[in-house]
Amino acid sequence: MKPPSFGYHRPLTVADALAALAESGSDAKVLAGGQSLIPLLNMRLAAPKVLVDINRLGGELDRIEVDDQAVRIGALVRHARLLRPGSPAAALPLLAEATRNVAHPTIRNRGTAVGSLVHADPAAELPAVLLLSGGSVELASVHGTRAVPADQFFVGPLQAALAPGELAVAATFPRPPARSGSAFLEVSRRAGDYALVGVALQVRLDGDGRVASARAAYLSVGPTPVLVDLTDAVTGSTVDWEDAGRLAQSQVEPDDDIHASAAYRRHLVGVLTRRAGQVALARAREASGDA
Ligand SMILES: Cc1cc2nc3c(=O)[nH]c(=O)nc-3n(C[C@H](O)[C@H](O)[C@H](O)COP(=O)(O)OP(=O)(O)OC[C@H]3O[C@@H](n4cnc5c(N)ncnc54)[C@H](O)[C@@H]3O)c2cc1C
Repeated sequence: MKPPSFGYHRPLTVADALAALAESGSDAKVLAGGQSLIPLLNMRLAAPKVLVDINRLGGELDRIEVDDQAVRIGALVRHARLLRPGSPAAALPLLAEATRNVAHPTIRNRGTAVGSLVHADPAAELPAVLLLSGGSVELASVHGTRAVPADQFFVGPLQAALAPGELAVAATFPRPPARSGSAFLEVSRRAGDYALVGVALQVRLDGDGRVASARAAYLSVGPTPVLVDLTDAVTGSTVDWEDAGRLAQSQVEPDDDIHASAAYRRHLVGVLTRRAGQVALARAREASGDA
């Protein structure tokens, strides 16, 4: 199928992009990598009157910046760049581990990390990582900029907290504290498919090598990624990830759909929590020199 007709802007500066978005308001859509938007247009599930193509903007939007606190990813950084050897994004291992599960290499070559966040698919990997790490998305418009924390950014399936006229310019993922380890795991029918269930999990140890906190963010178990604090289940004298899995299962409300039943998804939440918890704990011990 072909998309409905639309007006097309290809600005060369952020200011021009914001002006074009302001002029068209809710009739406009930003075109980034096009890996989600173009199929939606072709299937006529979306019909914006105007596309604002940001691919010529470059500059700050095309940068990955890392400091002691966080990794900041500009809106034109493609998934594949997060995976290149020597990428600054390696400062946040969970981000690379999750990104490896995003679609196929051809899609990762073009799709952007920020586009994936704005698209807000509840089955996508990066929203769960942003939520777990307590990150935020920077939005710009002709009226100024604002940063929206992840727990307010994902408001529903394919719905992010963007107002008409706003452009997401970057996402900031805080780096994990010392003595912590993380893991990302998912189950999908075929490599590259959207996950039936996935989990991003982080464990932090105290100075005595005991678990101080454990948190996980799940994908494909609700309309948005779901954050669960597992700490109470794993801070006893012996760490039992089975308990953590049961706690997580009690906190999610997956739906039945054509891909999997709610019961199977809940089962996977238990299994993936156990496996990811063991891996993340081993990595936290390694990072603390307690392995
Ligand atoms: C076969 C297939 C399999 C896939 N599998 C997965 C998967 O397993 N996991 C996964 O996470 N994704 C998957 N994807 C989606 C892919 O990761 C997309 O690249 C990503 O979701 C969107 O990034 P994009 O840059 O292509 O955005 P686009 O398609 O250009 O845009 C997507 C949406 O976000 C908006 N948008 C994008 N960037 C901005 C911005 N900077 N400011 C404001 N609005 C913006 C657009 O207006 C649009 O509404 C798959 C896609 C395909 C085709």
